[in-house]
Amino acid sequence: VSLIGAKPVFVDINENNFNIDISKIKTAITVKTKAIIPVHLYGQPVDMDHLIEIANENNIKIIEDACQAHGAEYKGKKVGIFSDSGCFSFYPAKNLGAFGDGGAIVTNNEEVAEKVKLLRNYGQKVKYYHLMKGPNTRLDSIQAAILDVKLRHLEKWNKLRRENAKFYYSLLNEMKIKSPIEEKFAKHVYHLFVIRTEKRDELQKFLKKRGVSTGIHYPIPIHLQKAYSEFGNTEGSMPIAEKVSKEILSLPMYPELGKEQIGYVVDSIKSFYKNE
Ligand SMILES: *Cc1c(COP(=O)(O)O)cnc(C)c1O
Repeated sequence: VSLIGAKPVFVDINENNFNIDISKIKTAITVKTKAIIPVHLYGQPVDMDHLIEIANENNIKIIEDACQAHGAEYKGKKVGIFSDSGCFSFYPAKNLGAFGDGGAIVTNNEEVAEKVKLLRNYGQKVKYYHLMKGPNTRLDSIQAAILDVKLRHLEKWNKLRRENAKFYYSLLNEMKIKSPIEEKFAKHVYHLFVIRTEKRDELQKFLKKRGVSTGIHYPIPIHLQKAYSEFGNTEGSMPIAEKVSKEILSLPMYPELGKEQIGYVVDSIKSFYKNE
């Protein structure tokens, strides 16, 4: 957004699903608003019907950030197709990852398809004839070859992630820890399995000692990043995102993670609370 000279306007998150709070979008829209960028965060789809309604009412575009949601579904359809531009990252750790960086945009809009193809290749359609200014963001052939093979396994891997999540849920159920939720309209693909606890930092340290690596996605909300200090946001500007960012902890999650390992992670969490 910034690199093309546009201004990002932040909207706080929904505390239940960590996605954009749709009820807060309307007040953020002005006559200058060009697009809404919903992020299907952690692999959980945004409530697109609701969002599309707001976008249509205001005659603005939607650009889906589906970088964590390859194969996730909203009301039975895969995300990335609910707007003119569904954006996917193939960074190695994503549900579909290359062996280096890569990404793709999906669209049903001819005009967007043509423009994106120009943009990725110095603005050329025919070699050495530049129709517009553009960088080089071509996907390496080697990455494409790897993705071509891995794509065939995506459904299976997502299924395994969902089974792992289900097993986590069954074990975490009795505990006071807040598990993530799966919305009724969603088929979540659990790029990350993120719990919430007020004792986050202590729990993370404790788990590390027991050999369990965890992550924090993400420690600082964008509006408080130094890179975006120009907008003058301070603590309290986006209260939900700020609160949640201090409590979230991503537990181990990947297709090959087995029941035994999940059991060990949850047992470790249990002993943390016993020692409290
Ligand atoms: C990974 C990720 C990106 C960035 O993808 P790159 O391939 O690193 O450019 C953007 N948005 C979300 C939600 C992501 O998870």
